[in-house]
Formats: sequence, C-alpha cells, structure tokens
Amino acid sequence: MFSLADAWLAAVDTCRLLGRLLPVAVPAAVLLAGVPARAADPALHVPILLYHRFGPTVTDEMTVTTRVVEGQLQTLQARGHQVVRLQDLVASLQNAQAMLPDRAVVLTVDDGHRSVYTDLFPLITRLRVPVTLFIYPSAISNASYALTWEQLAEMKASGLVDIQSHTFWHPNFNVERRRLAPEAYQRFVQDQLTRPKAILEQRMGGKVDLLAWPFGIYDADLMRWASAAGYVAAFSIERRAVTRAENPMALPRYIVTDADRGVRFETLLSGPNQQPATNTKAVQK
Ligand SMILES: [Zn+2]
Repeated sequence: MFSLADAWLAAVDTCRLLGRLLPVAVPAAVLLAGVPARAADPALHVPILLYHRFGPTVTDEMTVTTRVVEGQLQTLQARGHQVVRLQDLVASLQNAQAMLPDRAVVLTVDDGHRSVYTDLFPLITRLRVPVTLFIYPSAISNASYALTWEQLAEMKASGLVDIQSHTFWHPNFNVERRRLAPEAYQRFVQDQLTRPKAILEQRMGGKVDLLAWPFGIYDADLMRWASAAGYVAAFSIERRAVTRAENPMALPRYIVTDADRGVRFETLLSGPNQQPATNTKAVQK
C-alpha cells in the first residue's frame, strides 16, 4: 500500500541523490489521506502515548487494564483529540506542509506482548484507531508472552496497525557497551538495528524505518548508526510532547500506566512541554 510515509521517503531519497534537502512536494491527495487539513502549525505539539501490556487486571506496572485503555480512548474522542498515524507525525516533522489535525495524538505499543492482539486489537478495530507496534523479532512466535507472526499479519492487514523495529532482541546498549570492545560493540549494535528491519520488511512487507530505543537508551553513536541503518526517526521514553525542536532520532513518548485516568490523563495530553534533554545523553528508565 502506498502510504504518506512512502511518498515522503521517496521524496527524501530523491533529495539525497541531489545532495541537499529540498522542500518536498507531495501530492495533496496523498498528504491528506485520512487527515483533515489544517494550517501548517509551527507550534506542533503532539503527545505520543506508549503502552506495553493489557489485561483484565494490573499484574505489573507496565500493564494497563483494557477497561482503562477504553476509557482513555473515549477521553481522547470527548476532548476532540484525533489519533493520527506515527508516520504522519514523522512526515509532518520533516515537512511542515504535511499537516496534522489540531490536537493530534499518536499511540504506540512496545515489545509485542500477546495482549496487544487479545485485548487492544479488538478495541482499536471497534473504534478505528491507528496504532504503531514496536517489536523485537527474536520473541515473535517464540516467547510464550509474545505475539505470533500470524497475529501480526492479521493486525497489519486491518490497515490500523503498523509494525516497526524495537531492535532484534531488545538489548540494553549501556550494558553491551561496557561488555564489548568498541569494534565488537559497534558490530553488535549494527546487527541489532539492521536485522529486525530486514526481517520485518521481508515478512510483513512495507517499509520499516522507525525505531524505538530499548529501555529508552540512546546516545550520539547509537543515533548515527540508526540513521546509517536506514531509520528516519527513533523514539525514547522521555516524558514530553513532540515539537519541531526535537531531534528526530530521539522523539519523546509518555509511558502510560493504569493510573493515567481522569484529570491525570487529561493533563498528560495538554500539559506544557518540559525542556528537551540534551540529545547525546543516555537515558535509562
Ligand atoms: Zn521495550
């Protein structure tokens, strides 16, 4: 399927060939597919919400009960927020003419837990909400807690679910950097970045060019190697909304918990930005 991201990437590839970054002209019909037009917003402020697991009860701090998620999605609707695709946000960051609706919000889910299929997928199918999953392929159809390739294919076929990279086996890059010699560490990182991209593109089709940093750990080397591996944007777990001031290789996201209800959830959506952290700082949370 030809997506907005594909259109933008094709244009970017052309720009790279030209050796300079040009304003990208993308057909309006492509830009606006599914996204109501608004004036280009220099003050873009988009919270990306990050989920991990779902279920009837809270079994750990990363589980949000399915009932609470449904309430959060209803809050978004009631307050006039529109859930947009992560690719549309990335396109808008790269090209201010790729407009987003007012009060745009993005939903992401890391790690590929099986409850994404059993609990979240029925909900987003009913409410027609797009979601991006960041998965690490070593677990898929392998670990007991993880999704299967068949479930991923079914979700992707819905048109609501995009599947992107969370490295190959979710390493802690701080630990690996200490454990390995510099050259071995670089080879390790490059493998962790390139393998999931190749596997997901081959198995799922489409372009895999978005990366969620495991444990939110990133630094200047990691960002440079991720760009070289073909990623156009990467995502951390720093708690603030995305603005045009952010480094595209370390875009912040809010981890959502079961306690994010009512006013607390509304504050998360509309609260003022915290100051961006320096881009080279390794973050572990
Ligand atoms: Zn993770």
